[in-house]
Amino acid sequence: KPQHNFSTSDRIRVCIRKRPRNDKEVKSNDPDIVCITNSCTVTVKEQKMSLDLSRYIHQHVMHFDEVFDDSSSNADVYGRTVKPLVEFILNKGVAVCFSFGQTGAGKTYTMIGDKFTMASATAAATTSSATAAAAAATADNKNVNDENLGLWVSFYEIYCGQLFDLLNDRKKLIVMEKHNKQVCITGLMETYVKDLNALIQAINYGRSNRSRGCSGVNPVSSRSHAVLQFDVRCKDSNRRIGRLTFIDLAGSERASDAMMCSKQTRQEGAEINQSLLALKECIRCLDQEQPYKPYRQSKLTHILRESFTDNCRTVMIANISPTQSACENTMNTLRYADRCVFV
Ligand code: ADP
Ligand code: MG
Repeated sequence: KPQHNFSTSDRIRVCIRKRPRNDKEVKSNDPDIVCITNSCTVTVKEQKMSLDLSRYIHQHVMHFDEVFDDSSSNADVYGRTVKPLVEFILNKGVAVCFSFGQTGAGKTYTMIGDKFTMASATAAATTSSATAAAAAATADNKNVNDENLGLWVSFYEIYCGQLFDLLNDRKKLIVMEKHNKQVCITGLMETYVKDLNALIQAINYGRSNRSRGCSGVNPVSSRSHAVLQFDVRCKDSNRRIGRLTFIDLAGSERASDAMMCSKQTRQEGAEINQSLLALKECIRCLDQEQPYKPYRQSKLTHILRESFTDNCRTVMIANISPTQSACENTMNTLRYADRCVFV
């Protein structure tokens, strides 16, 4: 087993991505208050009103490893976050990439992409998700000389502490912990992807199985975590070489009072808060000086246990909306991301 000796600041990169204003926001004159001053700095110009009702601007300036403007494409984001890890993954590494933020901020767009049907790796790299591009590079063996390596994909959803297999008709899955503390998901479907087309098919099929329905104002899919996982294996022995996991986290906004009326949404909200809190704690524990690691505080972190060990690299992408009306959620997202930065 290789020992990668990274410093903590190498082990996790914390990035911010701002999405463009949509038509509705432009039409309603909801101003863009997020400025990307350089590739590491984001400035939020919060519009406030003082006691004498005069308006003023409260400026928040924060620094991160990478900050992506609304003009950046998925290919740009991929190129500066996950692409540099492909070599590491093919060399027995484990990497995980999270998207965090309020519903509508662009998490799914960043992790899984819009529905895509294009057939070439170039198209995937330029127009669709980071995921497709990363996996395509692996599946197409671009960086691999070894004919014996193959790529397997699995895709599941964690909703209210339960797992559903998105590549197998939402079959309920069970999480088991082995003697060696390794966590495994029993019965999880792993689909071999021989090329990019097979991969796109699998992702689109999985996406069509994401939970729908409505609770409060948000679709259920925004109240669940989606996990899209790629394993690089030896074709003959099935031995795992490396792993790359993309996690489209549940929306980080607090459920509104109106939504809290239903027991279902209260339970969802509690689960989400708990798992996002546990995730932040586990990330903060990447710092080796912390002896106790609180994996077990949520299903999400328990499953991801190996991602918090020494041999793993983490990318956190915090997605933010550009407008004044989203300011409070944006600031909460930036503060959460800031807590994940090591200095
Ligand atoms: P979330 O998953 O965080 O709820 P989505 O990824 O579904 O948010 O994005 C909300 C909407 O904004 C979608 O219609 C998506 O296509 C669009 N969108 C998100 N990010 C971008 C972007 N960087 N460029 C263009 N459109 C985007
Ligand atoms: Mg989403």
